[in-house]
Amino acid sequence: MIYLDHNATSPLDRRVYEKMIPYLTDIYSNPSSIYRFAQGARSAVEDARLYLAQLLNADTKEIIFTSSGTEADNLAIKGIACQLREKGKHIITSKIEHHAILHTCEFLEKYGFEVTYLDVDEYGLVNLDQLKKSLRKDTTLVSIMLANNEIGTIQPIKDIATICHENGSLLHTDAVQAVGKMPIDVKELGIDALSLSGHKFYGPKGVGALYLKKGIKIIPLLHGGGHESGRRSSTENVAGIVGLGEAARLAKLEMKANEAKIRPLRDKLEREIIAKVPEVKVNGHPEKRLYNTLNICLKYIEGEGILINLDFEDICANSGSACTSGSLDPSHVLLALGLPHEIAHGSLRLSLGKDNTPEQIDKVIEVLPKIAERLRSMSPFWQNK
Ligand SMILES: *Cc1c(COP(=O)(O)O)cnc(C)c1O
Repeated sequence: MIYLDHNATSPLDRRVYEKMIPYLTDIYSNPSSIYRFAQGARSAVEDARLYLAQLLNADTKEIIFTSSGTEADNLAIKGIACQLREKGKHIITSKIEHHAILHTCEFLEKYGFEVTYLDVDEYGLVNLDQLKKSLRKDTTLVSIMLANNEIGTIQPIKDIATICHENGSLLHTDAVQAVGKMPIDVKELGIDALSLSGHKFYGPKGVGALYLKKGIKIIPLLHGGGHESGRRSSTENVAGIVGLGEAARLAKLEMKANEAKIRPLRDKLEREIIAKVPEVKVNGHPEKRLYNTLNICLKYIEGEGILINLDFEDICANSGSACTSGSLDPSHVLLALGLPHEIAHGSLRLSLGKDNTPEQIDKVIEVLPKIAERLRSMSPFWQNK
């Protein structure tokens, strides 16, 4: 099998798995308990917090463990917006955010908040002038993703943070696709809140975290025993947190090497597909883009058709966003780039990871042009173009 869907989820690193095992078996204590047996679980959670903090250049007190990237996004948006509701009820985000952000904002709109959805240009970059013009006295929160999951475009988050702070607004960034792939220094970038998720960088599924800058208050989503300094109650997912921490520790050590391996493979894939398949459009920014992501439109073909044919060759890829697969709606991200519906339908996302080999990439380069040719030979749009 050739797995090229790392932006949907990544495999669990074996080393992470090994590190988790004791916390699924022998070290089962509740970290909050008094007896000495609880110390093992407690210190494992705190070690993981330290590794995450080190990955982001944050303080350990600024890390809140959650059950996912989705929960971190919900906690940031709902938690900050509700905390600051007396100061203002205006939020700004972009049209290409993950649904964990977009649907959370739509939810808040039903409860009296107002949301501005910023446009992006043809490469997926947010327009900073539009951001400046959209900021108001009552704008408490801006949420702009660091790197887009579908097209890989990386936003100028430091400039965005500066603009937000000049207006007295906080900046949250959904960095779920960026964490582990690129260096992130929350202090240097001026980020107030940041979401991440374990399973996007070789950690386990079902665990994530929110970085929340010291001094920023938040209303919790989960009320209960007061875990995570009262910001996220519930007995810690100790094994998951240990896995997340180990994934963070490894990412800090190996990020550069992973990029050096993955980027040339992605670039080759891109180059060869363009050379071998006519009428292909690459989506996302040519340079400001995650080095593992290739999103292309093969004009006159449906994305689903390509995916099914790739699947017959044991190649796992994606079209649009994983969350909406099964629906025939084209991706909201591609539509926001200004692509017409019929072209947005023919999109294919190939997202690489550290275990992909040159041989696998060569196989895709061999197979994909044939699939495109076959599907186009059956397409009335292709014949009538
Ligand atoms: C995957 C993803 C999420 C959701 O994370 P989960 O841990 O799967 O809930 C949020 N935002 C982006 C950009 C993502 O890629």
